[in-house]
Amino acid sequence: MTKTLDIAVFHGDGIGPEIMKPTLQILERLAWAAQSYGLTFQDAPAGASHYAQTGESLPQASMDLARSCDAILLSAMGLPDVRYDDGTEISPQIDLRKELSLFAGVRPVTVKAGQRSPLNLPADREIDFVLIRESTEGLFYSQGRGEVTKDAAKETLLITRSVSEKLFRFAFDLAKTRKSTGRSPGKVTCVDKANVFRAFAFFREIFDAEGAHHPEITADHAYVDATALWMVQKPWDFDVLVTENMFGDILSDLGAGLMGGLGLAPSADIGLDHAVFQPCHGSAPDIAGQGTANPFAMILSAAMMLDWLGLRHDIPEMRADGDRLRQAVDQVVVRGDVLTRDLGGTASTSEAANAVLHAL
Ligand code: ATP
Repeated sequence: MTKTLDIAVFHGDGIGPEIMKPTLQILERLAWAAQSYGLTFQDAPAGASHYAQTGESLPQASMDLARSCDAILLSAMGLPDVRYDDGTEISPQIDLRKELSLFAGVRPVTVKAGQRSPLNLPADREIDFVLIRESTEGLFYSQGRGEVTKDAAKETLLITRSVSEKLFRFAFDLAKTRKSTGRSPGKVTCVDKANVFRAFAFFREIFDAEGAHHPEITADHAYVDATALWMVQKPWDFDVLVTENMFGDILSDLGAGLMGGLGLAPSADIGLDHAVFQPCHGSAPDIAGQGTANPFAMILSAAMMLDWLGLRHDIPEMRADGDRLRQAVDQVVVRGDVLTRDLGGTASTSEAANAVLHAL
């Protein structure tokens, strides 16, 4: 039996629509060939260009569509020169995160054998870990509400038991899934600063309590500063890392750097009922309209979506297609002959996406 799943599509700003278009073509081809699933795509207007045209950055109809669909595929959003009256940037992706309680920001960091990385790894060395960034509270809790006087500025960090419990359960479940597929030995590391801040000692305590429910997974701790060092010195030692919002924001860019740039960094924001899949990078207005944007982070985010939907709806073919799509991108990246400018090549967006289709 074929199960059809609905995807809400946010095309984004700048290079957003340029990398979304070939990604949808690849997904359409996969769904067309699939026996057990189908996909429908529904456009959800939003973003900085939409705000400039209509005065609305995330219309209620788009929010309702996102809520009613099975998954949300979102391209890079925001433009530096289109802002709200208070000077802040247009970022519907953050509104979606809050509105849909997408507490787990999932950022895989992978470097395949032979792939170029600034670490100059030995040819057979691989990196494969996942950073989970709590995405609804932490130091971002007071975003836009910080108190500033002439002499002082104050922001508030919030860590709650209810969100932390869900976050850690998600992290241990992910480690179990990775272990069950033979991808990793099964370890979760809580990244914090529990030696200095009481809030992080609280965070760690909740982590330890959740860890006790998963004896088959190793529960580990690391301070955030040491983690930054080890991500450079021995990133192959990590499996699943879980951390607070701001720490995760910073470490995930370091993770993207290990992979060779933002153009290869996919992400997912996942909650109990909804999930958004989007590249880590922004809308790159400096190269928009040139047809040179790297589509790989967007395509890899779509692969994560297939994986998540396949697991959630128990459609093994969909998970297998997610794997195949990821492997096709890996193959093109390792081969290195059809890469966009950001990765040192000369290929256009469509040439790079076609190389992935060919590898599939
Ligand atoms: P944001 O704050 O919205 O995340 P940002 O200020 O970090 O955005 P990006 O838009 O991510 O900036 O761009 C940073 C740099 O990386 C730019 O020089 C941009 O051209 C480049 N870049 C980002 N994404 C891509 C991509 N997919 N392909 C090629 N270059 C990219």
